[in-house]
Amino acid sequence: MFSHIYIEEEVQDHPVVIDVLSKFPKAIIVSINNYKNVFNPSNQNFQSQKLKKKLILAKKKDNYIYKGSPLTDTFHRGKFYYNTLIMNCLYNCDYCYLQGMYNSSHIVIFVNLEDYFLETEKILKEENKMTLCISYDTDLLALERFIPYTSKWIEFAKDNPNLTIEIRTKSNSYNKISHLKPIDNVILAWTLSPDEIVKDIEKDTPTLNRRLKSLCDATLNGWNTRICLDPILYVKNWKNIYTNLISKIIVHPELMNITDITFGVFRINSEYLKKIKKMRVDSKIIYHPYKKYGSVETYKKEIQIRIQDHILNELLKFFPKEKIFY
Ligand code: SF4
Repeated sequence: MFSHIYIEEEVQDHPVVIDVLSKFPKAIIVSINNYKNVFNPSNQNFQSQKLKKKLILAKKKDNYIYKGSPLTDTFHRGKFYYNTLIMNCLYNCDYCYLQGMYNSSHIVIFVNLEDYFLETEKILKEENKMTLCISYDTDLLALERFIPYTSKWIEFAKDNPNLTIEIRTKSNSYNKISHLKPIDNVILAWTLSPDEIVKDIEKDTPTLNRRLKSLCDATLNGWNTRICLDPILYVKNWKNIYTNLISKIIVHPELMNITDITFGVFRINSEYLKKIKKMRVDSKIIYHPYKKYGSVETYKKEIQIRIQDHILNELLKFFPKEKIFY
């Protein structure tokens, strides 16, 4: 999986590093001073690095937790925060904003979880309640077989009932955490996409059926689960393929018990899109004539409304409106 593993000298004896290294006995180990020396240089090719993945194990020194948008509805579960435990992702979706955000696609794992936990406890003392998204700038559950951060955060949430965590994924790795007992303050959220999009655009991700299997198993086991139809892409035949997707979801009666379902059209930071266009000529999604609204580019209003009305009408046939957010 990883040809090379770069390790910051400062963390070479950290238990997480020792555990990760035991899983990749054939990788070439390179000792480094600071992960930024490998990760940040601008003369790197994000897509060719995806073909030969490298791992970086580092220590995060500050900014363990970021404040999220105050407009995010946490359903009375406190203010919204997010963190970056890992930078970059095993998958390679054509529309992924990480290509515009980072110079490198090497995966950086920050090993000092203990500092993230301390910072979270500090905020909880000040705020009393908080909602924390822990699968940001990565797909955390997809990496669980190498680095069991999802399990560790669920254990942490068990001891901190005023903390709600959301773990968003496209993975089929629920079996890696299915031994854990469901707790009320954890939301497992699956991004579901039509088969056509998975195959052509969401490269290296599990098929829709495999994601659905993980979602159904987690829901049946009693977890709070969320379905995310996000991003919805305005592709040829979009109406049929997304109607078809919803029909594949609702054949599973257990999914009537999901906590909620969210959807949203594709949107991306305009600077990131500009950078991605300079690197890629191989994806139609990137070259759609998007409209700029502030710093974000997305479909023009009339397309957004057509998509929104159609998806909402379809979902309302099966889910109560209290469970649908967009
Ligand atoms: S799953 Fe998310 S983070 Fe990973 S490549 Fe796709 S869009 Fe990017």
